[in-house]
Amino acid sequence: MDRQQEFVLRTVEDRNVRFVRLWFTDILGQLKSVAIAPAELEGAFTEGLGFDGSSVEGFSRVHESDMVLRPDPSTFSLLPWRGETEPTGRMFCDIYNTDGEPAAVDPRNVLKRAMDRAAALGFTFYVHPEIEFYLFRSAHLKGGLPEPVDEAGYFDHVPGGTANDFRRAAVNMLESMGLSVEFSHHEAGPGQNEIDLRYADGLTMADNVMTFKAVVKEVALSQGVYASFMPKPLEGQPGSGMHTHMSLFEGETNAFFEAGAQYQLSRTARQFIAGVLRHAREISAITNQYVNSYKRIWTGHEAPSYICWGHNNRSALVRVPQYKSGKESSARIEYRALDSAANPYLAYAALLSAGLKGIEEKYELPEGAEDDVWSLSPQERRAMGIKALPNSLNDALEHMEESELVAEVLGEQAFDFFLRNKYQEWNDYRAQVTPFELRHHFGTL
Ligand code: GLU
Ligand code: MG
Ligand code: MG
Repeated sequence: MDRQQEFVLRTVEDRNVRFVRLWFTDILGQLKSVAIAPAELEGAFTEGLGFDGSSVEGFSRVHESDMVLRPDPSTFSLLPWRGETEPTGRMFCDIYNTDGEPAAVDPRNVLKRAMDRAAALGFTFYVHPEIEFYLFRSAHLKGGLPEPVDEAGYFDHVPGGTANDFRRAAVNMLESMGLSVEFSHHEAGPGQNEIDLRYADGLTMADNVMTFKAVVKEVALSQGVYASFMPKPLEGQPGSGMHTHMSLFEGETNAFFEAGAQYQLSRTARQFIAGVLRHAREISAITNQYVNSYKRIWTGHEAPSYICWGHNNRSALVRVPQYKSGKESSARIEYRALDSAANPYLAYAALLSAGLKGIEEKYELPEGAEDDVWSLSPQERRAMGIKALPNSLNDALEHMEESELVAEVLGEQAFDFFLRNKYQEWNDYRAQVTPFELRHHFGTL
């Protein structure tokens, strides 16, 4: 028993905790949870808790189904929505095979492997997300369309509105669980909101995103509304992105910063950007993993469609935010493709690995785009060497399937499962005869 484990045991006793939930995440980013009694906690620390991996999609095959959860004591927290008396605690877990090896398919392990590769080059990976989501009146469509809770827009102050109360409650709850919030505001779509978390290392932040989604869903429920992280829930309205700000640190030093360089971007930063740009299409199925994700990518509203970078350019895939004098630690780049439905562990692992590849192979950064790349003609974009993100999930999967980088990042089993699962989604989607086709063709063909 190490000191952190002892601390958790003591807290559980002192606070009279009734249940401890063990959390982990499946390959598609769905949160899984099993509650144990406090008496089982010590055993969970020392031996782990067995579970049937074959019942979690993609984790294991039926003939080798036993897997083991090991709670990470550094992630212990109480769940505020479960109340103060006899509270419920939770910890994120790492998943092991019964031979004691970390399970290659565990998304947390996928990210740890990528962070270890960064560490071998002397880097720590820091991220912060801007998470967008919608608040709807109900989770049930009842044959109609999702109904947003308000008609407000970007930065609107809605007196007494649901969104105000909601953000206040959500931010308080997040902070009580140790997640610092930097900004929160109404976003451009009706009922759309955004909450931005303060930066942390990649693994902590991926855990935080999982916590964030659970908190936002709970607060919405408690206020009688429904929170959706679907990438594009409303036709004609903005989608929900999860713009991701990234930097690499060497010890205390921001390796992306170089005083006097163009936009204060170091060579490391330029090579990192070159890496994420060159591999953007291959990792797209990870950062944008649903059929619906490509409805966001290809309908404007400040979601990126083209692979380029620019200084403060919101039409570019990678934006280099304006450097604030004296704030070297905040020099960073923003990757704008991710949507709020991505699995944060896999998405961060893919982005980091693409960036590291750029550093290792010393990729040249192409010229930045200072124009609005949506308004350029296809010929102009071609002349500038600007390619497009995938058109569809199918297109993204075809790029992923050919990618050595993604195969290595995910490991064989997760890679195969992911492709199989997602091609199935595409095939199911493709098999539909949609209202669009009936409207346009039924009466005329
Ligand atoms: N909702 C937009 C997106 O899907 C982003 C808007 C913004 O710049 O914050 O990426
Ligand atoms: Mg936003
Ligand atoms: Mg942004």
